[in-house]
Amino acid sequence: MSYHRAAREHHNRRPLPSHHPRRHPPRRKRPKRLSIRAYILIILIIIASLVLFFYNILGVDTETEEQLGYAATLNVSSLNTNFDNTQLIYRFYYTHMPLELARHIIIDPFNLAKLITFSPLENTLTIYTVSPVIIDITYDYENNNINITLYNPRELYSHIVIIDPGHGGHDPGAVVGPTTESEIVLSISLKLYNILGESDNNIKAYMTRHNDIFVSFEERADFANSIGDIFISLHANYFDGAGSHLVYGTEVLFNPENPHKTNTSNRFDIDNATLAQIFQDNLVYELQTRDRGILEHTGLAVLNLVNIPASFLEIEFMTNQASLANLTNPSFQLRAAEALYRSIITAFNYSYNDTSE
Ligand SMILES: [Zn+2]
Repeated sequence: MSYHRAAREHHNRRPLPSHHPRRHPPRRKRPKRLSIRAYILIILIIIASLVLFFYNILGVDTETEEQLGYAATLNVSSLNTNFDNTQLIYRFYYTHMPLELARHIIIDPFNLAKLITFSPLENTLTIYTVSPVIIDITYDYENNNINITLYNPRELYSHIVIIDPGHGGHDPGAVVGPTTESEIVLSISLKLYNILGESDNNIKAYMTRHNDIFVSFEERADFANSIGDIFISLHANYFDGAGSHLVYGTEVLFNPENPHKTNTSNRFDIDNATLAQIFQDNLVYELQTRDRGILEHTGLAVLNLVNIPASFLEIEFMTNQASLANLTNPSFQLRAAEALYRSIITAFNYSYNDTSE
């Protein structure tokens, strides 16, 4: 006891800088060493948590598909397949980082966001928008902000094509044996979507559905009208009357009333008949199918609702055995997609030529 008191008094009396550690008795040194270890431990814990924290933020950056879910990816736009007529939903899943850890700054110059919700329980941020948007996400490490910018695709792309795989969900379209029209046209659509995505022609493609879900005509049309320049609806034909084996070939339907001619917000102008002929020519040439020609049709719901240039493509007949074998053949599907790709390029070039004169 007395030694400790004496030591404390000794310590208190003497000014600190005059000490040399080696002159102190060993017992006085022990508590000091412990506090240095504690310091080091605390610093290590802080460093570890900082590393972990920044790693987690980076994780969102590098694993966008996984981290951000199906709705939006870094610098990439995609259509949420759950969209309905009035709202589009972009949902960000934070699987590593707690939602509260970063501040979200929403930059929305075009007022595209209708509602933004945070759900800490599900660790998600959800943005409901009035029209399809391109979401750009950047991390401001200095301020620990996640900047989420919403763009109108039309501000970023001069050419937007809407690919509409017909049917889907509870509407399979034509059915022959185990094969549905909805799966055939989805497969061709996805191939076209990938070709457009990989090419460097600055044509942005959107799909009205990416999987086997039901989308109404109104939803397809609203979506196309809100951002698109060209709309193509993909279908496979069906004829089960007498002599169905004699009925085959390619045809493209179009609305001769050209509803887009009265749409003042349209950026691209081409007669539906001209557009249909471009698709027809390319498909028949590439696929070597029977040319059934282009056909006027005023009774197709989706074509009546769409007010951008639009074509309704019947690639081939499912009711003809050889045609069905083609339709389900991946290399035939790919050639169909390539023919559609060339048609889209031609159509947009037609527009250039038309306006430059
Ligand atoms: Zn159909």
